[in-house]
Amino acid sequence: MSNNNENQELFEKIVNLAKRRGFVFPSSEIYGGIRSTYDYGPLGTLMLRNVKNAWWKAMVQERLDVVPIDAAILTNPKVWEASGHLATFTDPLVDCLECHERWREDQLPLNGDEKPFCPNCRSTNMTEARPFNLMFKTFVGPVESSSSVAYLRPETAQGMFVNFTNVLNTSRRKPPFGIAQMGRSFRNEITPGNFVFRTREFEQMEMEYFVPPEEADRWHEYWCKERYDWYLRFGINRDLLRLRKHEEEELSHYSSATSDIEFLFPWGWGELEGVANRTDYDLTAHSNHSGTRLEYFDQNSQTKYTPYVIEPAAGATRAMMAFLLAAYDEDEVAGEKRIVLRLHPQIAPYQAAVLPLSKKPELNDLTADVFSRLSRHFMCDFDDTQSIGRRYRRQDEIGTPLCVTVDFQSLEDNRVTLRDRDTTEQVRVPIESLGDIIGDKIAEGR
Ligand code: ATP
Repeated sequence: MSNNNENQELFEKIVNLAKRRGFVFPSSEIYGGIRSTYDYGPLGTLMLRNVKNAWWKAMVQERLDVVPIDAAILTNPKVWEASGHLATFTDPLVDCLECHERWREDQLPLNGDEKPFCPNCRSTNMTEARPFNLMFKTFVGPVESSSSVAYLRPETAQGMFVNFTNVLNTSRRKPPFGIAQMGRSFRNEITPGNFVFRTREFEQMEMEYFVPPEEADRWHEYWCKERYDWYLRFGINRDLLRLRKHEEEELSHYSSATSDIEFLFPWGWGELEGVANRTDYDLTAHSNHSGTRLEYFDQNSQTKYTPYVIEPAAGATRAMMAFLLAAYDEDEVAGEKRIVLRLHPQIAPYQAAVLPLSKKPELNDLTADVFSRLSRHFMCDFDDTQSIGRRYRRQDEIGTPLCVTVDFQSLEDNRVTLRDRDTTEQVRVPIESLGDIIGDKIAEGR
């Protein structure tokens, strides 16, 4: 089978598994859905939360130099005027003159003569490109007038820039220090698609790291490496990951240098995260537009300066998709094909599943005791239907790293069987030490 077919097949397998097992559903499906908008089901909600927790832990909890905020999605529209989004946050829109579909010009495929053509009807007969602003517009309050226009944020970053002085004054930090936040962003993408890779509503995980200007290059390099290593740490293979430096003409209006961390998606390399040197662009722009100086006064040198900003900006929903694709595997166990998601234990929806060998009431109390001990510390599934082999397969397919089986012997010796997803190895362990054993395995990522 050609690589292309295999890639397409993997993509379809992930989309199907996501729907079948409750990771991701098409939004408002009973009404026919709404193009490229998705709801996260029980497993997807757990997994997305774990992706965000892993980011939060690495970017906020484990660092002394980063503090969090949670800014509003709606802001004063002057924020977007100052940031340049109103004027320049656009994609080049073209219409196909044959079938009237609309496309993003820079994403059109090229024919043999290197001419862009319409993916729908293959015509090369297109309008000239015109800039299309990606921000969703709305009105605040009951009157729909130009003075009540507001925008849904297209990135979380600006909430951190406009709060620079508030955070500086209240957190007693000084450069180099960072402000981090996660949350929903909205972009009226011309051509959303590829499942949750590009949607109009998505979740971002961004951090703005404020540094003395002369240290910006060094910190840019530092954050490229930190963020690249984060994806490796959570189980993405090196072969599927690369760091790509932007060419001069590709740079955003605010950036002096950007490197993208890219994942090899089934259709080719795609961005997971951009690490940009945003210089003093944003703080200066907001200082000029608002009249409030967003600067830092250095006590030691008795000088004021506008810090430069290094920004690692990641997509949580896109990262989740990459983790799913990277984890998908098929192998054979006891002569039977099995589907297994080899997810990092901290990313998997459930860390453990508690499975009583039989539904007989004698096992009820002990099983409930095991579940309650474990669920205090870990997200646990419970399943008592069908054969134990079938239940292991179901857990393998959703990436649960450990299964705990309670059987009749457990009533005698207070031990349970701990089964490992990847090796399928089974060991008997005392119920007393179960929590510690599972905790260690999850912490170590085994
Ligand atoms: P792209 O080039 O793919 O449109 P971008 O360079 O505009 O992305 P950024 O503005 O750097 O993206 O946003 C940071 C991150 O947010 C991206 O790396 C991506 O993971 C995520 N992201 C951006 N747009 C979307 C979207 N429409 N759907 C899902 N995730 C997105």
